[in-house]
Amino acid sequence: MEICQQILEKIKEYDTIIIHRHMKPDPDALGSQVGLKALLTHHFPEKTIKAVGFNEPTLTWMAEMDTVQDSDYQGALVIVCDTANTARIDDKRYEQADFTIKIDHHPNDDVYGDLSWVDTGSSSASEMIALFAENTQLTLSDQAAELLFAGIIGDTGRFLYPSTSARTLRIASSLREYNFDFASLTRKMDNMSFKIAKLQGYVYDHLEVDENGAARVLLSQEILKKYDVTDAETAAIVGAPGRIDTVSLWGIFVEQADGHYRVRLRSKFVPINEVAKEHDGGGHPLASGANSYSLEENELIYQKLKNLLKNR
Ligand code: AMP
Repeated sequence: MEICQQILEKIKEYDTIIIHRHMKPDPDALGSQVGLKALLTHHFPEKTIKAVGFNEPTLTWMAEMDTVQDSDYQGALVIVCDTANTARIDDKRYEQADFTIKIDHHPNDDVYGDLSWVDTGSSSASEMIALFAENTQLTLSDQAAELLFAGIIGDTGRFLYPSTSARTLRIASSLREYNFDFASLTRKMDNMSFKIAKLQGYVYDHLEVDENGAARVLLSQEILKKYDVTDAETAAIVGAPGRIDTVSLWGIFVEQADGHYRVRLRSKFVPINEVAKEHDGGGHPLASGANSYSLEENELIYQKLKNLLKNR
């Protein structure tokens, strides 16, 4: 793949490479970011290669971020993984880079970067990093393979979502060849704390489902406090409504400390990302995020979701 060679040439040109990913990272954001870092560090030990961003407490078991000084950006190459739009890039200092590369699998709504590799046919940015290694014949380290495997599991719901292609499975299979503690990794990714299990119970108890399968639930600040969970921890229950057979699409409205709502949208087959875009968000056709600034806007979003199914 020509683009992978172009990316490799740029990597070879620079002494300092700083790798970014999106805010509120999930396993794929971290897996692609730190998996790429591990791959490059393994092959280019003479270069300074850093991963930057907020240390998400629930995912520090995967990786911890590096300390990056402003001066590090001078003459540096920045690679941004798994981030569709510039507004969502964690750490705005990416703007100070000498050259920027975007590697992403979301729809390319915000075209950025001096060089860009966007493949919406990839299940995950981690799958793309594994492909990059394959196409450039850079062998992975065990650590890189583990991180990329974790990212793929994360974004495919452990090979459940339709984005799981034959290539995804082939790549996952080749990553499994490496030496890492598979059982421990998959257990970590499947485990939930007791409080999250209880929150899941709340979601099932309070889920509203219309006659066509449009569902919603609101998690207020009061509920988050009651169950002692952070906004980031709600990621663990986003898929829960989809396990109900009559639910076709759903929105989880999570009230934030400032009073606005993060809206996590998921669908089994009808695209919901246009609704997300109309409400300060975006994402994949079947997995998007939006922001709502009032209870009225929450109603409007739910109405639009219901209409998507009603008007089919
Ligand atoms: P989440 O519900 O946060 O897991 O997000 C699901 C998908 O939607 C992810 O692929 C995100 O990249 C995307 N997404 C979430 N929030 C936003 C946003 N505010 N703007 C653009 N895309 C978003």
